[in-house]
Amino acid sequence: MIAKPKGTYDLYGEDAKKVAYINDVLAAICEKYNYEFIRTPVFEATEVFHRSVGDASDIVRKETYDFEDRGGRELTLRPEGTAGVVRSYIENKMYGRDLQPVKLYYNEMMYRYERPQQGRMREFNQFGVEVLGCDDPFIDAEVISLAYNIFKLLGINNIRVNINSLGDRESRDNYREALVKHFSKDIDKMCEDCQERLKKNPLRILDCKVDKDLEIMKNAPKTLDYLNEESAQRFQKLQEYLDLMDITYEVNPNIVRGLDYYNHTVFEIEMLNEEFGAQNVLSAGGRYNGLVENLQGPETPGIGFAMGFERVLLALEAEGVNVPINNSIDVFVGYVNDEEKETALYLVQDLRLNGFICETEYLGRSLKSQFKTADKLQSKYVIILNSDDIKNFEVKVRDNKTKEEENVKINDLVDYLDMNM
Ligand code: ATP
Ligand code: MG
Repeated sequence: MIAKPKGTYDLYGEDAKKVAYINDVLAAICEKYNYEFIRTPVFEATEVFHRSVGDASDIVRKETYDFEDRGGRELTLRPEGTAGVVRSYIENKMYGRDLQPVKLYYNEMMYRYERPQQGRMREFNQFGVEVLGCDDPFIDAEVISLAYNIFKLLGINNIRVNINSLGDRESRDNYREALVKHFSKDIDKMCEDCQERLKKNPLRILDCKVDKDLEIMKNAPKTLDYLNEESAQRFQKLQEYLDLMDITYEVNPNIVRGLDYYNHTVFEIEMLNEEFGAQNVLSAGGRYNGLVENLQGPETPGIGFAMGFERVLLALEAEGVNVPINNSIDVFVGYVNDEEKETALYLVQDLRLNGFICETEYLGRSLKSQFKTADKLQSKYVIILNSDDIKNFEVKVRDNKTKEEENVKINDLVDYLDMNM
């Protein structure tokens, strides 16, 4: 048997229905917030990710799927959504649009060479939004509210929004200096990755999952103590806006996020359910002023977040949410002989076009087993065709609950079902 590649999964059955439901909720909320759908290629020039996610990030250092195509081009399967969206924003000159800011959302598979665990896959589905062209914390608050309201709408209530600020360049530089000073003393006691991070991107050390319980980690300098006046005011404003919208959040100075490009606002939405397991961050994001310039576009502020479907499915399960999935059909059309079969084909075509969920018999089984199928499908009505009725342009309609039957003119069938449904 040929098995699927490690870290991938097939989506089918109940989970596929749940994902379809999540997709509906996401599309609906994005419509309300007036965000526009965007799809970018599954692979990009490798450079796109080196310039954005950053050479020092875990993702680029050891998680990307890089390959050369037959024409010798260096390509990478996208490990995250922002870089491709920003590349597209620049290439398609969206910065020149009349309507600003540009508010986009995506919903795609991502690829990272990770150690697969529950809620951590090599191919995974992320939904995310990006807002480009607005630097006001007002939009940071909107983006956080969108991320938060998704869970409200899905019925996942046991969550917490954690926010932090990394500040502007000056604040970040000062903080970086303090971190280097702090960690330099004992860096040889830390993991190899952290030793590397100290040189390239010390902020990343705080994101380390290996050293996270070390004392030196716990008493590391806090970002908020290094914010300059303007950055601090901005962070204050964001909190006022979140309060205004009744979004419960916590300021958590340990959030720095795993990508290189963040500044000012960073946030995560965390599942609080105790049994949930280690992968408890459902969505995460932040502000990335400077990224558009890094990718050779005009100076443009941006903010976004991404949410992983696999963890949302686990969260729905953990919270015992009853996902509204329709497992029943409206009409089953049963028949026996060939003449009836043609009428069946005509009828299901007509009924489906009129909005009814219809099934019929495909395998030539007896009427008795067709009735059983109709029951299994929880069909509300069963239409039984026989040649005599058909000659009178009629069919037998059985209410599958009461088992009462009635002859109905084929021409009146849609109205009849509409009235009784
Ligand atoms: P983590 O700390 O869990 O590795 P990250 O910092 O790499 O997360 P982001 O790149 O910001 O996460 O991704 C945002 C969201 O995407 C995560 O909160 C999670 O829901 C989801 N996600 C990230 N990596 C994976 C993965 N390998 N498999 C499934 N979902 C993922
Ligand atoms: Mg990760």
